[in-house]
Amino acid sequence: MNTAYLLIGGNLGDRAAYLQQALRQIEALCGSISCASSIYETAAWGNTNQPSFYNQAVKLITPLAPEALLEQLLAIELEMGRVREEKYGPRTIDLDILMIDDKVEDTQKLTIPHPQLHNRRFALLPLAEIAPSPHHPILDKTVSELLVNCPDTLDVQKK
Ligand code: AMP
Repeated sequence: MNTAYLLIGGNLGDRAAYLQQALRQIEALCGSISCASSIYETAAWGNTNQPSFYNQAVKLITPLAPEALLEQLLAIELEMGRVREEKYGPRTIDLDILMIDDKVEDTQKLTIPHPQLHNRRFALLPLAEIAPSPHHPILDKTVSELLVNCPDTLDVQKK
């Protein structure tokens, strides 16, 4: 079994309901969610002319290898009708793999740890709530340490 940390986000429609639906789909297709953070609200990153995002981090115990996990997550995003027209544009649901155990991968399809994890407060804050102590295998810092050192100034509010 692998322990994966995921970030779930969305900024269209009933955002809390979409997060709940995504959690159910992840449990149905990917494994067991042993922990979920509070929901956090963040101004849209990279394109501020759109609704704010809701984000939530989860701890997933999964039998799936990283690539298989990514495929299932992409299928869930598609099924939930994500709009993919615009980079940083609005979306019903966005599923990112933040870390999987101490695995390091960098292929065309998948980079873990997520390459922007250490730069994004909206990912680190919910992750630190459920998992402050895992080590980032490349930066050799705990999640708490990454949060303290994060340069991102976007306001992230616990709902
Ligand atoms: P986006 O939804 O815009 O964040 O980008 C989705 C694409 O990023 C997917 O098609 C994946 O192939 C790729 N990707 C690379 N690394 C990751 C990761 N750690 N988590 C999720 N998607 C990833």
